[in-house]
Amino acid sequence: MKLKEIKGIGPKKEKLLNNLGIFTVKDLIEYYPRKYEDRSKVVNINDVPNGEMGLFYLKIISPCIVSYPRRNMSITKCKATDGTNIINIKWFNNHFIKNSIRLNNTYYIYGKVTRTNKYIEIDSPVVNKTLGGSLGKIYPIYSLTKGLSNNDMNKFVLDALKKLEIKDILPKVILEKFSLLNRKLAIRNIHFPENEKLLILARKTLKFEELLVLQTAINLDTINIKKEGIRFKDFKEVDDFIKGLPFKLTNAQRKVVNEIFKDMNENKSMNRLVQGDVGSGKTIVAAIAMLKAFYNGYQSAMMAPTEILATQHYNSLKELFKNVDLKVELLKGSMSKQEKDSVYERIYNHEIDILIGTHAIIEDKVEFSKIGLVITDEQHRFGVKQRAEISKKGNVDTLIMTATPIPRTLTLAMYGDLDISIIDSLPPGRKNIDTFAVNMNYEKRVINFLKKQIKDGRQGYIVCPLIEESDKLELNSVIELYERLKQEYFQATKIAFIHGKMKNDEKESIMDEFINNNIKILFSTTVIEVGINVPNANIMIIYNAERFGLSQLHQLRGRVGRGQYQSYCILINNSNSKIARERMRIMQNSNDGFEISKKDLELRGSGDILGTKQSGLASLKIANIFDDMNLLNIIQPIAKKIVVERKLDEKEYFNLKKSILEFSDKLKENIIFN
Ligand code: ADP
Ligand code: MG
Repeated sequence: MKLKEIKGIGPKKEKLLNNLGIFTVKDLIEYYPRKYEDRSKVVNINDVPNGEMGLFYLKIISPCIVSYPRRNMSITKCKATDGTNIINIKWFNNHFIKNSIRLNNTYYIYGKVTRTNKYIEIDSPVVNKTLGGSLGKIYPIYSLTKGLSNNDMNKFVLDALKKLEIKDILPKVILEKFSLLNRKLAIRNIHFPENEKLLILARKTLKFEELLVLQTAINLDTINIKKEGIRFKDFKEVDDFIKGLPFKLTNAQRKVVNEIFKDMNENKSMNRLVQGDVGSGKTIVAAIAMLKAFYNGYQSAMMAPTEILATQHYNSLKELFKNVDLKVELLKGSMSKQEKDSVYERIYNHEIDILIGTHAIIEDKVEFSKIGLVITDEQHRFGVKQRAEISKKGNVDTLIMTATPIPRTLTLAMYGDLDISIIDSLPPGRKNIDTFAVNMNYEKRVINFLKKQIKDGRQGYIVCPLIEESDKLELNSVIELYERLKQEYFQATKIAFIHGKMKNDEKESIMDEFINNNIKILFSTTVIEVGINVPNANIMIIYNAERFGLSQLHQLRGRVGRGQYQSYCILINNSNSKIARERMRIMQNSNDGFEISKKDLELRGSGDILGTKQSGLASLKIANIFDDMNLLNIIQPIAKKIVVERKLDEKEYFNLKKSILEFSDKLKENIIFN
């Protein structure tokens, strides 16, 4: 149904609605209120605290007086009472109101109350002789745009509800089992709640519907992968390799390797998430899985979020596998066309066993001869959209590795049906990273401490939030800081900076020099937060630490403490806010990524832990996977059952299926994630 068919919507209003993402009448009724005002019950003047809204039934006890304190400004005042107290009423620039307010008459009056020692006042209230219009009900407030009033929205939605037929999406069995409203009633009450109870039920119903659609859509993708899979065999060579490592696997690593092997040996595709704190040794676990695939005659692909990290994985794997007769190759964006073509060809001819790179390596162009295992090292960035790409490669086994320990419910929400392994301890001998939080007054001391470390032969990182100077924000930019500190402290020290806008080979050559200990101090934006491993670097200074999330600070800090040296992380906090200080305190007191991530969730309350972009799930209209985790918990098994038992083919599920397929398309077009 077209917007034009709604009373009051002409071309002009239609354009404004479009700006809000509303293109059809269906969009309009799914444009839910941002909040509500309870204008349903009349209250006593004395019962409303300062700053809150109230609906009163008031008798006017003084005539309206208009004054003009300035040109173009009028104030109309009168006094009124409800018998419990007296209240001053004030209107700005609305002197006509005088004609409709009569002495000794009573009116319904709604507005915000201001209380001082001397008087109680209500400013520019809504006034009505009877309960009607916006009074006497729970009143919806919509997000608006200039030219479109809340009143407009109310009228449009009301007319839309009259004209549009609303069918149930959830099947009856589900509606009944969970005491949900039918969709028509839910939509009606989300806009115009008859009472508080129905509003709560309406919200629950629409969230339920939305999350069930989301979870079923994701499960459709992931559970299908789970069908037929490769049955890998055990090889003695893999055990020998593990025995030959320069270190012993931790019990946690061993446990996870066993879980992975069990999956690989089964006749269904592995779909497993490995969570392990920074430094817990995920890379070796991945390497062992790839080695097993290799002895079984399969190729593996390993994806990293950045080329720097991919290069690093490439180097560590080459070192690890130096005595194994397998071919590891790196595919990089900066390679020439010829070089790339050569990689494509050798992958196709199975002359390469393990291919490392960014997500480009699972693009259509790269045709594997016999791919058996895809590993995604996401650290803490989540990119669910690759899922669909991987599944195109056939029923391969997949492993996702992450350093952010998020609750199981959330991983299921984002990745669908998967198993989880946790590397819950660090290799022995790791020292805690001593973490200090200071303010800018300590900069000189901090830098001198850094200088001392460099003199002792160590290297260090300096991290700050921006690349270039910004007029708006008082933040340190990496280039500016580099230049200032070079001038003031490091004229004789080899230092360099990298940031995300530099070319890949430029970044790489700087990283190489840092790894080879030619560069002593690396200034950087957060591009180094993922996975870089330079054991000789033992100190990190983070400027504007208040700008980073807790999990991000923990990831950053994880770049040090990788060798045998006592390591340090110094957080320069420029904020005095309570929450910033609390976060610095947590960082000082804990080295445990799981604990930190939990606190992060608590402190922020919702999605930002995964970065605003990733937490997106942009098209969710009413639910939020972070705030509605309890509901998600209930819905996840239902979504799984719907897919496993092929319920979508049943007649009762027809409308649900339609919604899921629409959503699924969006998912594949990457609209939902990232
Ligand atoms: P992350 O889990 O952060 O990806 P890495 O895989 O990069 O961690 O491992 C961090 C460091 O720990 C590497 O230098 C690696 O060689 C080393 N390491 C991994 N497992 C062990 C172990 N069991 N004992 C000692 N060192 C280990
Ligand atoms: Mg890693």
